[in-house]
Amino acid sequence: MDYRKLFLAQPGKRLKLAKIDPGYHGKHITEKQADAETQRHRDTISTLQDLMYSEARHSLLIVLQAMDAGGKDGTVRHAMSTMNPIGTIVTSFKQPAVEDLKHDFLWRVHPHAPAKGMVAIFNRSHYEDVLVARVHKLVPKDVWSARYSAINDFEKLLRHENNTHIVKLFLYISPEEQLKRFAGRLADPARNWKISEDDYREREFWDAYVKAYEAVFHKTSTRHAPWYIIPSDHKWFRNLAISQIVAATLQDMNIQTPKPQVDLALINRQYHQAEEAEEEQDASKPAAARSGKRPNAHS
Ligand code: ATP
Ligand code: MG
Repeated sequence: MDYRKLFLAQPGKRLKLAKIDPGYHGKHITEKQADAETQRHRDTISTLQDLMYSEARHSLLIVLQAMDAGGKDGTVRHAMSTMNPIGTIVTSFKQPAVEDLKHDFLWRVHPHAPAKGMVAIFNRSHYEDVLVARVHKLVPKDVWSARYSAINDFEKLLRHENNTHIVKLFLYISPEEQLKRFAGRLADPARNWKISEDDYREREFWDAYVKAYEAVFHKTSTRHAPWYIIPSDHKWFRNLAISQIVAATLQDMNIQTPKPQVDLALINRQYHQAEEAEEEQDASKPAAARSGKRPNAHS
């Protein structure tokens, strides 16, 4: 199953989140049934990400957005555990710092765009500036409404200038599932630290967020930087769908094993064959000469 087709937010089209089932889990009923397929995609990611790092021609940017407790952290952990850490970097975007607010909204984001060969994961992203900023009126409408095209230009720049492939994932959960997850955090002392009253307060803005997300998908899902809406009430299904989408995106890059920068035959002749010849010559000498010792060194 190509979940890129099933979950794509069609560029330029309006969609209604209410028409999508966050509890969707495809043909699999249980996590166990999905396991083998998920693992297959994880193996593909592991091989190709390593190769992408060596080739250093492409880069991959994975943007994660969700309502609170939507599973961004779990997704990061799942995705990253298949990758070689040397080629990956995760950035979590929290409330902008004082210095950030003295600049345009993309100023703090650009330095975290992936270098060639790297995978960057944005845990929240520049999209907060047309989501929370819009819902809570942090800036006037004429400011946030001009940001969609700025975002599209920015992402186009990354693609054209730096061969950055962009995959944007919205982890879609239901409000009921969110409340269940909050309750889970409350009941588990190891996860109590994750609870914030803000998260509960934000629930009152659910519909406003839905509207803001729908605008994001309509205005910023593009051919080169598509949005995928991932049904995420079931964590295992979310992991399966995301692994498949990331694996397929890497496969489409046509990553090649990098060509050697040196003359291999020459190196072989100069260093390996010459050494072998020396060893052979050495082997034919008497034992004392081979060890390099003078027979009467201490006399
Ligand atoms: P969790 O889903 O586990 O709660 P989180 O991503 O919500 O994790 P928090 O530290 O709880 O992490 O919250 C980060 C907060 O920063 C979010 O409320 C988010 O809306 C806010 N934020 C991120 N970027 C911006 C921005 N550009 N402007 C204003 N607020 C922002
Ligand atoms: Mg939060």
